Amino acid sequence: MGKRSTISAAECGGGHGAAALSVDEALQHIASQVQPVSGFEKVALRSALGRVLAEDIYSPIGVPAHTNSAMDGYAVKHRDLPESGVTKLKLVGTSLAGKPFSGPVAHGQCVRIMTGAVMPDGTDTVIMQEQVEREGDTVRVGGDHKHGQNVRAAGEDLHQGQLVFATGKQVWPPELGMLASLGLGEIVVKRRVRVAFFSTGDELRSIGEALSKGEIYDSNRYTLFAMLSRLGVDIIDMGVVRDDREATKDAFLEAARNADAIVTSGGVSVGEADYVKETLDAFGRVSFWQIAMKPGRPLAFGHVQDAVFFGLPGNPVSVMVTFYQFVAPALRRMMGQSDTNPVSVFRVRCQSRLKKSPGRTEFQRALLERDEKGELVVRSTGQQGSGLLHSMSSANCFVILPSDSGTVEPGTLVEVQPFHGII
Ligand code: AMP
Ligand code: MG
Repeated sequence: MGKRSTISAAECGGGHGAAALSVDEALQHIASQVQPVSGFEKVALRSALGRVLAEDIYSPIGVPAHTNSAMDGYAVKHRDLPESGVTKLKLVGTSLAGKPFSGPVAHGQCVRIMTGAVMPDGTDTVIMQEQVEREGDTVRVGGDHKHGQNVRAAGEDLHQGQLVFATGKQVWPPELGMLASLGLGEIVVKRRVRVAFFSTGDELRSIGEALSKGEIYDSNRYTLFAMLSRLGVDIIDMGVVRDDREATKDAFLEAARNADAIVTSGGVSVGEADYVKETLDAFGRVSFWQIAMKPGRPLAFGHVQDAVFFGLPGNPVSVMVTFYQFVAPALRRMMGQSDTNPVSVFRVRCQSRLKKSPGRTEFQRALLERDEKGELVVRSTGQQGSGLLHSMSSANCFVILPSDSGTVEPGTLVEVQPFHGII
């Protein structure tokens, strides 16, 4: 299948009455059709937060750069320590973090040393301060110490030239700190992916407008704004587009001119009295799918000119579910991330009965919590209507029930995908 091809309703279960596409088939098809953006830019270290590395990072220095003490204590020559009993060493100076002791250390001498301070030339072992007796500049020490103890060797954590992070790694707090510890002030990152989004539907009103009978506020655009912002893409909010042939066409063409990807909500259900499908049939290469999932059955995917297009269903919960399952991994791929599915799925025992019929993958909203024994368990948050965004707020995870699963009885192990990290 070519990069820009679409699949027909017959092949893919799109359209009315055809067999639905499975979640995995849809994911595979989407993955085969999106490519990482090729542009990159150099940014100051702090601005690299949330960005994706566009080059491999090799350590320009050894970490630690100098052999140093892991403890507060005394730096000694191990061969000065007695086989048994106690010996006296002469204290000749101090080595502080950032202020090394510069003089030589002769036989029978030692240096007071603090954690992180450079080991003085000629010393090889650190005795913890609690293990010596000190009187003026005389330090009494026993013999029961290992050669090299409490010393961190130069290059022990990372040797110079070692690969630290590979291209495609997203920069989060540990990476930002690590890059700083290597002394790197500028980082080459992938250019930001630009995503245009708009809502369709004559029933939609923007905030600030009064609602007439049958009208609702456009909430999807805010959910999308939030999810896209979290992902770290540049966003172009195109507002509400009227159910009108010219307006719909203009919106899609403008979005395709300005963005790498277009996300819309509403107007992809069968029998919608709007112009999304008509416009995309004329100007895009888009498949209208029925996906065997709940919520989120209709989904349109393809290209409008060179932009990748996702037409999400209109229901607010469906928007979130289809975004997290399909759009987020695809955008991560476009961003150049090597890990496009960073949120793990794991199995825990379900305390509730979850009603379900076989045939569709379900993403039920649920609460992951600890039971009285401290075991992680999950329970349903109750109502699963796809219009109620509140069911997302009162949950902290999806329970993912596979297509062939029927009703789940209490005590069954189920797959859980925590919101933490994706929301
Ligand atoms: P549709 O997929 O266009 O048939 O929409 C399905 C349902 O979602 C309808 O009840 C719409 O009113 C609702 N809906 C569509 N778009 C939005 C939106 N932007 N914000 C809130 N609800 C919406
Ligand atoms: Mg609509």
